[in-house]
Amino acid sequence: LTSAPGGRSGPGALVFGKQFSDHMLTINWSEESGWEAPQIKPFQNLSLHPASSALHYSIELFEGMKAFRGVDNHVRLFRPMMNMERMHRSADRSCLPLFDKGELLECIKKLVEVDQEWVPYSQDASLYIRPTFIGIEPSLGVSRAGKAMIFVIIGPVGPYFATGSFNPVSLLADPSFVRAWKGGVGAFKMGGNYGPTIAVQYEALKRGCQQVLWLYGKEEEITEVGTMNLFIYWTNENGERELVTPPLDGIILPGVTRQSLLDLARLWGEFKVTERTMGMKELLGALEAGRVLEMFGAGTACVVCPVGSLLYRGQTIHIPTMQNGPELAKRFYKELTDIQVRTRRGWGATWW
Ligand code: PMP
Repeated sequence: LTSAPGGRSGPGALVFGKQFSDHMLTINWSEESGWEAPQIKPFQNLSLHPASSALHYSIELFEGMKAFRGVDNHVRLFRPMMNMERMHRSADRSCLPLFDKGELLECIKKLVEVDQEWVPYSQDASLYIRPTFIGIEPSLGVSRAGKAMIFVIIGPVGPYFATGSFNPVSLLADPSFVRAWKGGVGAFKMGGNYGPTIAVQYEALKRGCQQVLWLYGKEEEITEVGTMNLFIYWTNENGERELVTPPLDGIILPGVTRQSLLDLARLWGEFKVTERTMGMKELLGALEAGRVLEMFGAGTACVVCPVGSLLYRGQTIHIPTMQNGPELAKRFYKELTDIQVRTRRGWGATWW
């Protein structure tokens, strides 16, 4: 390696998704011959027929996961079968060929092993893994792809938060923008769900916010924040401490981090844990009553990301997440990163 992979050159040196390792994995499929042998080869451009269905009709899906170098120097993935299962569901909904989830994971592990020096020697940085699945049918017909390719690229990513800081984000909550809808494909990780959000993200920046809070329907249900699932920790109307997150009703992406926080909270058993919808009206009422303790996003990129304010119908509404520690968000962060890098053998980690 000519340049030292991330983590060695200090925090802030890595911009997400711009640096890639030396190798990539490709697996081709065709209707006639099925799956071909997987190949790990030098990182290189793809050569695609210009009529490839991924380029015209977004027959494309992806995953996002990480490999961590533990303090014991072993490299590990975090609950990777959950990503394989989500990818399999996305493939099914995209009419792309189904694959063996365990075998794909084995191929990904092999790729990470080949490029293991790219897994940062740091407890804050990690190796991002991007499995991608595209239809490469060389035809403009709007139909199922008869040719397809899975490819996996990997690259080092730095810490989401600079050491020690846990910066809260401001969110644009504008019900005129909709990310996903009932009967749609919001629960699948298809590229087509992401491209159209970029203009909305820029709208948020233009209005002085950092990210988008996606609202849905008449009740203006709070669904997700940017590309993270959403959690609210509050005292509910019955005076009980409760962690609330939107349910898996097809509108939101079933996050691996979301499931992990729910599993942890239920394991602790110290407060109520509820998956249910919550509208803006209910949230604003609770904020006014001083019952909201913390609001945070959860995803692979940051683990947890505190929310500090909402811009809703021209008004900036303060969320007291930081004033409250944020105790729960920090506890989740510590618990998950302990499992991921500090080799704490316990629930949730996959060791290899
Ligand atoms: N929601 C959306 C829309 C996302 O893109 C992601 C990132 N995959 C998440 C939530 C969080 O999912 P995960 O915890 O699996 O990263």
